Amino acid sequence: MPKIIPQLPEEELQRQRDAIERIAAGNSALKSPPLAFVDTYGCQQNEADSEKLRGMLREMGYAFTEYEAEADLILINTCAVREHAEMRVLGNVGALVHTKRAKPGQIIALCGCMVTQEHMALRVKKSFRHVDLVFGTHELYRFPELLERTLKPHKGRVFEVRQIDGERYEGLPVVRSSSIKAWLSVMYGCNNFCSYCVVPYVRGRERSRSPEAVIDEARELIDAGYKDITLLGQNVNSYGRDLGCEADFSYLIEEINKIPGEFVIRFMTSHPKDATDRLFKTLADCEKAERHIHLPFQSGSSRVLHAMNRGYTREKYIELVEKARAAVPGIAITSDVIVGFPGETEEEFEETLSLVELIRFDMLFTFIYSPRNGTPAASMPDPFTREDKQRRFDRLLAAQNAISAETQAAHVGKSYRVLIDGVNDTRELLTARTSCNRLVRIKGDEALIGSFADVKITGSTTWSLEGELIQKEAGQNG
Ligand code: SAH
Ligand code: SF4
Repeated sequence: MPKIIPQLPEEELQRQRDAIERIAAGNSALKSPPLAFVDTYGCQQNEADSEKLRGMLREMGYAFTEYEAEADLILINTCAVREHAEMRVLGNVGALVHTKRAKPGQIIALCGCMVTQEHMALRVKKSFRHVDLVFGTHELYRFPELLERTLKPHKGRVFEVRQIDGERYEGLPVVRSSSIKAWLSVMYGCNNFCSYCVVPYVRGRERSRSPEAVIDEARELIDAGYKDITLLGQNVNSYGRDLGCEADFSYLIEEINKIPGEFVIRFMTSHPKDATDRLFKTLADCEKAERHIHLPFQSGSSRVLHAMNRGYTREKYIELVEKARAAVPGIAITSDVIVGFPGETEEEFEETLSLVELIRFDMLFTFIYSPRNGTPAASMPDPFTREDKQRRFDRLLAAQNAISAETQAAHVGKSYRVLIDGVNDTRELLTARTSCNRLVRIKGDEALIGSFADVKITGSTTWSLEGELIQKEAGQNG
């Protein structure tokens, strides 16, 4: 039984509320509210964290802008999962030198996974002297106190990054970016230590929220009119283990499913080693649960999976997918895969390719391995070149694109119930999602956004479906 991380003392949260009040009092004396620009890199957990940062900023009296140039505060929530994400952040932060020169007094702040790594916090300190405030993932709730310190004249730069297991707390304010779709974190951190991954180092140990807190938040969201709730965690299938309570992830889905109203329950991510028959049965039984599971396999080679510390074999993964498909007919299965893990041979890559062809995922997110500081894989011998890896990546992508085009085309002529959630980039078509999380574009009135409708699928591309609204016919699960 891992040690239970205690709840943060109430006084600590009160200290933050006091800082919020003091900053808000200062801002209310200004002619107009100061402007904050918040930018987010990375995964849905970061999106959810940024909604909390915006919540705190709003309470501190800030308004929001989409333009860095006019912002009084620029806050960048960073990602560390691959080098590419870090390079993009550093490039953009570098360019802010000019923004700040044009607007003296502008505060530039960085937070999130990238700067929670000590070497990155140091790099920012040394080489990006225009950055005023840096705080780590464990400092999220302390943002008001840290911002207050940064705002004090002549206080110098503020760097606050603790390497700790993490803390438990509830009740941060939130400004959500959509009124239809909501992120709902059920747990934080990760205990799996896959050998390539930096997440357990920057997000700390697994901390599940209490089942009451999760279910109450779901109820509030549904009462407020949200129609699409995504339960978030690095490995939702291990929900509750650290609490030592009866409630597991299936229980959360069952309880949220009982809340009256028409809405969809989505979730990510599921680790294959912890996906159970009970989860699949729950998905089959709960009509509001999406008919979709994101089940990253990472490699089709059992040798590589072992070196990745994933805790399952190729055969076990195939068996799991068969079980999911048998229990939940029509379930969409999407996945993540890494090519070029250190020492992955050509034959081992072929095993990944053959798994992709065997399973026929509905969608696949393909990544080239990126060495992460301090992870075991970063010091494994890696005789293959970047070009070898790129060639493998291109082959895999081509194979999956052909499969995606075929699996999408198989939906033409069918009818599904969808949630209309927005418009496409050119604002000509509505965008919608099926219960299997497939993207459908349809002609229709923007007034339909936020409602469910039945559509008939009339066409498909590699990434999306085209459909038409139908009036009376009942949809199936798509
Ligand atoms: N907790 C989730 C994944 C979080 S990271 C899970 O275990 O499924 C999202 C994806 O990024 C991973 O599934 C993996 O495919 C990819 N990834 C993580 N670390 C990586 C690295 N060092 N190089 C390349 N891809 C990586
Ligand atoms: Fe990273 Fe593995 Fe944890 Fe996912 S389960 S966040 S890949 S360590």
